[in-house]
Amino acid sequence: MGEFELIRHYFAAAPCAQGGEGVALGIGDDCALLDIPAGEQLAISTDTLVAGVHFPVLCDPRLLGQRALAVAASDLAAMGASAIGFTLALTLPEFGPGWLEAFADGLSRMAHRCRMALIGGDTTRGPLSITVTVFGRVPAGQALRRSGARPGDLLCVGGCLGNAAGALPLVLGEREAPRAVAEPLLGQYWSPMPQLNLGQSLLGRASAALDISDGLLADCGHIAKASGVALEVSLEQVPVSPELETFLGPQGARQAALSGGDDYVLAFTIAPDTLAAIPDLERNFMTVHVIGRVLAGEGVTLRDSQGQDITPDQRGYQHFRETP
Ligand code: ADP
Ligand code: MG
Repeated sequence: MGEFELIRHYFAAAPCAQGGEGVALGIGDDCALLDIPAGEQLAISTDTLVAGVHFPVLCDPRLLGQRALAVAASDLAAMGASAIGFTLALTLPEFGPGWLEAFADGLSRMAHRCRMALIGGDTTRGPLSITVTVFGRVPAGQALRRSGARPGDLLCVGGCLGNAAGALPLVLGEREAPRAVAEPLLGQYWSPMPQLNLGQSLLGRASAALDISDGLLADCGHIAKASGVALEVSLEQVPVSPELETFLGPQGARQAALSGGDDYVLAFTIAPDTLAAIPDLERNFMTVHVIGRVLAGEGVTLRDSQGQDITPDQRGYQHFRETP
């Protein structure tokens, strides 16, 4: 099967490539065309997953397809954007029909959940790598940025943290766990659900937001820096799942929640009154937790239940960390 037939069979014919709201032209021409309503801005983000770096070479391609789109779409959620579509740049070492079928199926499943369409891409031969670029739309001037946090705001997260980091030894086959423990952790690793609804409901409300991909403390550092404020996280308020505690113990679970990567859960700052006034907050967003507050100053401080400063040194994952 040649490149064009491969694209047609596995991607152009996939359920997720059959158009969608805002897609004027999808796969098949030199460019896709999107309709952006007047008064809205286009939100764009790209993410690459490299075999052996971001996922094990031998893994379930269906899960990989889900994850590749989810981690990219999470950036749209973080800006409060509505998803339109995505492109897929796929580099494959060889043509594997079973692999492609399953990968495209995983991609279509996540696309369906996020209500976004595959609108184009590129297919090349080489070491396995997946680049997804997502396109969304947001009311002009209203996107949630990292830079608007103000002293007096609360710091919140959209759900339990650390599950995906906790799943890593399971993903790598280094450890095993009973199904009741393994399933929620692996679920968060392989198919984190981009918090698109939460992000959109924070438009015009949250003062700053991002999705946590490199660890809570490291990512809070980005909000603090961009906003010119200090963030204080109170350890006992950081939500951790009972399964993670069972698997790693209380200490390990806390460590994973604070500094582990791959959560793809939103963190945001918001004025207390504004948070309280979100309609049906508890019913619709029961996973939202207040974990700290914004103060004048700089940096991120972690405090225990006695108010002691227990901020760790190493805060998250970086590909090109400087060696001391
Ligand atoms: P060009 O040479 O003009 O860049 P290509 O031959 O690479 O076009 O691609 C032909 C069409 O197929 C384009 O619409 C492109 O967006 C789409 N396409 C290529 N690879 C993929 C892929 N992996 N997934 C989805 N669409 C793809
Ligand atoms: Mg072309």
